[in-house]
Amino acid sequence: MKEYHLIVIGGGSGGLVCAAGAAGLGAKVALIEKHKMGGDCLNTGCVPSKAIIRSAKIIHDTQTAERFGLKAHNFDIKLDSVLASVREVQEKIAPHDSVERFTSLGVDVHLGEYRFISPHQISNGKETLKAKRFCIATGASPFVPPIPGLDKIPSLTSDNVWQLKELPKNLIVLGGGPIGAELAQTFARLGSHVTVVEMADRLLIREDSEVSELVKKRFEAEGLTVLLKTKAEQIDGSLIVSDPNGQKGKIEFDQILVAVGRAPNVNGLGLEKAGVQYDKKGIKTDATLRTSAKHIYACGDVVGPYQFTHTADFQAISTAPFVIVKPRDLSRSSRKRERIKF
Ligand SMILES: Cc1cc2nc3c(=O)[nH]c(=O)nc-3n(C[C@H](O)[C@H](O)[C@H](O)COP(=O)(O)OP(=O)(O)OC[C@H]3O[C@@H](n4cnc5c(N)ncnc54)[C@H](O)[C@@H]3O)c2cc1C
Repeated sequence: MKEYHLIVIGGGSGGLVCAAGAAGLGAKVALIEKHKMGGDCLNTGCVPSKAIIRSAKIIHDTQTAERFGLKAHNFDIKLDSVLASVREVQEKIAPHDSVERFTSLGVDVHLGEYRFISPHQISNGKETLKAKRFCIATGASPFVPPIPGLDKIPSLTSDNVWQLKELPKNLIVLGGGPIGAELAQTFARLGSHVTVVEMADRLLIREDSEVSELVKKRFEAEGLTVLLKTKAEQIDGSLIVSDPNGQKGKIEFDQILVAVGRAPNVNGLGLEKAGVQYDKKGIKTDATLRTSAKHIYACGDVVGPYQFTHTADFQAISTAPFVIVKPRDLSRSSRKRERIKF
């Protein structure tokens, strides 16, 4: 059985920073990733979204170039070539988060799904790994609400929107938070007619109300339809919505993008076997990011409360010194690395 000072579960922003930091401090570290190295930020989050926003901004600036004393121009927009340029950006960044890079930093990368079988052991069914400490950095996934009919249609989320083949003519964006708002404006600038459906009385509810108002005005000036205090009730060919008075309406669409929040990735980890407590908001930790199991820490979106790459980075940097064993254990282990005391 392979033994480590630290096993990090999740190879996204938080997990990568924690693993690299702890390995740099001399710990024997394993990193587990079940899908793609780089996590959300590289594969489905910050990187593709900021890249497509850049294309959309160029379209918008060019279409409205007269305000700069230049001749306006309309592009012939092909979604597949825009998305190909997004992939190019991702490919440039991917080597920084790759298995090769982390192996070169001294981290043992294990690709696959492992779960706790005891407080100090995880297994993928074939192999068991043991560690003195753990850091859980499994991130979050788009939350898809139980709206009747939604499970009967192929809807979009920030996970799969990057595989779209054609630009939707009529796109509904469910949710006016940061992810919904940025993708709504982007697709409108690419040429879709976009309707944002938001249950709250303003967009971007975590921002100051002046910001929400400014963004709404800008969206409307750019041709988006913004429906506030509007609840998505059901999908039955079209989207049935209702206002606070119970007044119903119908919105036609050819694609619907669900961006109503993100749920922590806590399932399938066997957290109960490790004694790690969690609820629907994520893994519970103290101020030092230590979970209810004293030797297990957690960081990033699976903890929250702020689901950003820089928060995950910061938490991971704060966690790394705690998750490794005491310095005297390290100097002992560097003399005889295999003998880790549990
Ligand atoms: C569309 C979009 C745009 C965004 N834009 C920004 C932005 O501009 N700026 C910003 O700061 N943040 C942005 N974010 C948020 C940012 O992507 C996240 O906050 C960040 O990726 C969180 O890092 P993390 O390490 O906690 O989780 P993640 O990056 O999600 O990494 C978690 C990793 O764990 C893996 N994993 C999950 N379960 C298991 C398991 N059981 N075993 C092994 N591995 C597992 C996953 O495959 C994943 O690779 C955006 C997010 C989205 C969706």
